[in-house]
Amino acid sequence: MLQYKNSPIIELKLRIFEEANVRVLVKCEYLNHPFISGNKWWKLKYNLEAATKRDHKTILTFGGAYSNHIYATAAAARELGLKSIGIIRGEETLPLNPTLSFAKECGMELHYVSREMYRTKNEESFLQKLKDQYGDFYLIPEGGTNELAVKGVKEFAQSLNQEAEFDYLCLPVGTGGTMAGIIEGLDKSKQVLGFVSLKGGQFLEHEIQIYTRRKNFNLLHDYHFGGYGKMTQSLTDFTNQFEKDNSVQLDPVYTSKMMLGVFDLARDGFFKKDSIVMILHTGGLQGRPQ
Ligand SMILES: *Cc1c(COP(=O)(O)O)cnc(C)c1O
Repeated sequence: MLQYKNSPIIELKLRIFEEANVRVLVKCEYLNHPFISGNKWWKLKYNLEAATKRDHKTILTFGGAYSNHIYATAAAARELGLKSIGIIRGEETLPLNPTLSFAKECGMELHYVSREMYRTKNEESFLQKLKDQYGDFYLIPEGGTNELAVKGVKEFAQSLNQEAEFDYLCLPVGTGGTMAGIIEGLDKSKQVLGFVSLKGGQFLEHEIQIYTRRKNFNLLHDYHFGGYGKMTQSLTDFTNQFEKDNSVQLDPVYTSKMMLGVFDLARDGFFKKDSIVMILHTGGLQGRPQ
């Protein structure tokens, strides 16, 4: 089993929330593990358990050069004494960026494929080639989203239900796997708000409903700031100010976009008066500009 530390819940005591008559809390799940942080811990939990139970010695997964999932998977494999292989989209660039050099230090074997090839990653012929080259492995999809990932996040959401009272849960969305698990694990009376970090994320609605039949959620598509991994000056300014005013750091890909979105909703009077808003800090701080 991976190490795990229960993370604190803090309150953001800011004038903007006072004026909106809401209390805003942050579940600081980025503190749950030094390397396998935030939602990635929960997404990996049952996948790694399945891999170990089925006696696989190797984990293989996919990601871009800045992927938090690659980073977390490499660390988790090292912790459990498993071999790991990362299929990385695009060409190798040296020196390796901090994400990939960390993955390599953890012992992950990095295998670069062209963008065209990467697009075929779910096809049988591509997977067969990887099997021929690497032998047996346990496969975790890109971003780590599958049934077992949703199961892990659901377990987290069930414990959060017990730990605190709140009316809304806000979180950032990439593949939607985390959001699906959150929706499944929380009371149905709670509203789940997902801030989509990529452009053209309309498919996510369907993606989420593969894993849950519940409908108590909204996806917000206006907070991608130009697309996945993109940012704007106004987002950077917001993040700098937020970090000055609060004891919480944000990452540019996911959590800062969500946080700005929550501020917007509060300002617009979206949240019911006297309600409690829980923000899930999903981690990703390894990808912060240093
Ligand atoms: C991976 C990641 C997400 C997105 O999770 P999905 O399950 O793919 O939607 C959100 N926040 C952080 C910090 C992440 O690393």
